[in-house]
Amino acid sequence: MITKFCESNDEFSSSLCLLICFTLLISLLLMVKLPKVPDTPEDFNDVIACLQSGVFAPKYNTPSKRKNLRRRCQDLTYDNKSGCLFYTEKPTDENSQPVKKRIIPTYDKELREALLEKFHVGASHFEYHKTYTMLYEKHIGITQSEVKAFVRKCPTCIRNVTIKEKNDITPIIANAPFERLQMDLVDLLSFAEHNDGYSYILTMVDVFSRYVWVIPLKDKEGSTINKKLVRHFSMFGPPTELQSDNGSEFITDVLKKTCNMLKVSFLWLKFGFLC
Ligand SMILES: [Zn+2]
Repeated sequence: MITKFCESNDEFSSSLCLLICFTLLISLLLMVKLPKVPDTPEDFNDVIACLQSGVFAPKYNTPSKRKNLRRRCQDLTYDNKSGCLFYTEKPTDENSQPVKKRIIPTYDKELREALLEKFHVGASHFEYHKTYTMLYEKHIGITQSEVKAFVRKCPTCIRNVTIKEKNDITPIIANAPFERLQMDLVDLLSFAEHNDGYSYILTMVDVFSRYVWVIPLKDKEGSTINKKLVRHFSMFGPPTELQSDNGSEFITDVLKKTCNMLKVSFLWLKFGFLC
């Protein structure tokens, strides 16, 4: 439609450029200019002294330095009771109200950490942008990149991402009991002295019913595991398929022979794939 008003493509391009420049200028004018956040306790005290009594520290020794500090303090207030510094953000339009935000000094690592904990860990582990938005509603001084780094290192979020990634694995489906048993070992070696020398637990799960067997072991030798499995299968019957990871205690000739004898297909996982 705009091209109707332009005599040539050149005219259209220059009109478009002007429009973009004008939009950028308006955006810059509307952008909220935040005050400098105190980066040292001395800087914090200089701001408080200026706010409370109009006194300047010796380093503000020129009219321009004093003018800059006064300008920096113009939207700030100090609350004696709490010892907190606040910035009052001007309303963005005629329908909104001024917003008072607490200034979080750069040097106060403990306070920054506590706020990041509260707004991320204490608030359902939202992703960094939402965590930052919630924090910014009432505080200034903590940057987006700081929130991003905190969220990236959050152990709970790391664990959840790992679980999400694992969702890509194809589910194993069984149609009947004993169609497939999955076995694994739990290492309890450090508790052996409290458990009569039992150091491992052989676990077996029936994929169909999720029924679990746990068999205590004194060692994880292939022959020990084989004996326990033979005894187990003689009581409950052998499965059609037996699955394990590629632990050396499972990949033994004796166990393969037992499986062959009982006509059990032995499957083991190598690099996440069944072999
Ligand atoms: Zn988290």
